[in-house]
Amino acid sequence: AQALSQKLSSLAWQGEKKSVAIIGGGLSGLACAKYLADAGHTPLVLEARDVLGGKVSAWQDEDGDWIETGLHIFFGAYPNMMNLFAELGIHDRLQWKVHKMIFAMQELPGEFTTFDFIPGIPAPFNFGLAILLNQKMLTLQEKLQTAPPLLPMLIQGQDFIDAQDELSVLDFMRKYGMPDRINEEVFISMAKALDFIDPDKLSMTVVLTAMNRFLNEDNGLQMAFLDGNQPDRLCAPMKAHIEARGGEVRLKAPVKEIMTNEDGTVSGLLMRDGTVIEADVYVSAMPVDIMKRMTPKRWAKMPFFRQFDELEGIPVINLHMWFDKKLNTIDHLCFSRSPLLSVYADMSTTCKEYFDDEKSMLELVFAPCSPLAGGNVNWIAKTDEEIIDATMGELARLFPTEIANDDRWPATKEQGPKGQARLIKFAVVKTPRSVYAAIPGRNKYRPSQETPISNFVLAGDWTSQKFLGSMEGAVLGGKLAAEVIADKALGRPTNGLKAVQPDIVTAAESYEAK
Ligand code: FAD
Repeated sequence: AQALSQKLSSLAWQGEKKSVAIIGGGLSGLACAKYLADAGHTPLVLEARDVLGGKVSAWQDEDGDWIETGLHIFFGAYPNMMNLFAELGIHDRLQWKVHKMIFAMQELPGEFTTFDFIPGIPAPFNFGLAILLNQKMLTLQEKLQTAPPLLPMLIQGQDFIDAQDELSVLDFMRKYGMPDRINEEVFISMAKALDFIDPDKLSMTVVLTAMNRFLNEDNGLQMAFLDGNQPDRLCAPMKAHIEARGGEVRLKAPVKEIMTNEDGTVSGLLMRDGTVIEADVYVSAMPVDIMKRMTPKRWAKMPFFRQFDELEGIPVINLHMWFDKKLNTIDHLCFSRSPLLSVYADMSTTCKEYFDDEKSMLELVFAPCSPLAGGNVNWIAKTDEEIIDATMGELARLFPTEIANDDRWPATKEQGPKGQARLIKFAVVKTPRSVYAAIPGRNKYRPSQETPISNFVLAGDWTSQKFLGSMEGAVLGGKLAAEVIADKALGRPTNGLKAVQPDIVTAAESYEAK
């Protein structure tokens, strides 16, 4: 991560300065612009909305409370993200939590169990020990049965990991004789946290990739919360950095069409207001589902662009629930291990800007929320009230002494029975297409940042890079896109185009644009 940053900034005074128009002001578009500016080029970021950040965007409600697109956790094993914080001089904005993982106990409501990472023990032994020392989740025999199938990941590394992409987590478990309880105890929470999806739908490569990254670094699984809302605390310093180096970040600038020349190269960007933006190079940092719709007709039969049909964003819902009193919660992320919910945190405790010592605000990730992601209810199509109702039921089951699911909400009573907390406000944020659904067999279709169009480059968390659809993946995707542009500007060789799968090449020949 550091070497790539250094390479890009060392190019600042060499070669021709390129003007680069970047579509999308999420983390990937902003990272691309940041590293292009470091390399001496002039980026222009065009963001459709009136707020930066895309999937990390946030806004204030009428009371001034922040509503976030997603509950976001930073991991020690996010090298490009950590580098970015250091380069922007804002690393003190990460609030690191104790190195442990906390799981709600389904069968013991109100109780938690933990994987504790002992300081001073190096990876991967600290992880092994954390699992061995936990007495509540798996028996010793189950632990011993889990290790052998995972060992090739450590020994053979990425080749073994990539080879498992055609298998779902459940397929992998069955193939290697892992006990079913590992799924219930560990993989369901992991799959939902990694991709908002159930283990029977998730590619095993995703679980192994995450484990491999986490296991290779002593503090890989240590988690941090940002100390406040992402647009102000992370995106704003990125914008300032870009603009201090001659670039520009524009809000409310939706791109309507990528215009092309007869030879297929990009001639300009048609904006929704009718103006045209021209640059030397163009970058899409849009999510895959939007990029599919925006692919110019001239490119429609090109196999490279047909790969995108194989990728699709997964739905997810982010909930904010304000209670009238402080719950007995923990200063950390919790894995709910509930069928409806993934991870959650009491943001009034974990995040400095949202701190409140009298009232709790739980932020919860609701998943899976469509049949594509597992489960059989299409929650993404339900009303906010239905989603909150179901969540209150889950919370009352998980924390019966603190939260009651009765007809009290949104009620007028001052307090619930037995002094339980009362829900006083909620906000539901639905993202119908978030990170790409990492169902089996998708990795091979993730495209390189370099494209067959000489003046068009891709960024985004879904492009090919060793991290998943995540903030780290978004930053790395943007950085790799900047590298393609910087190398080409100097006439240097690039990492090249990723080969397109034969099935796509065949399908592209007969493709008829609808
Ligand atoms: P986006 O953030 O989607 O950015 C794309 C941008 O393009 C958007 O701003 C959009 O408005 C803009 N755009 C689209 N079309 C146009 C157009 N025509 N013209 C101009 N602009 C356009 N990751 C983690 O690492 N840890 C977590 O804990 C975590 N939790 C998450 C929880 C939730 C609920 C969600 C939804 C995501 C979570 N993620 C997490 C994933 C992470 O947020 C994403 O992987 C990352 O932010 C994606 O960044 P991106 O720049 O690739 O895409």
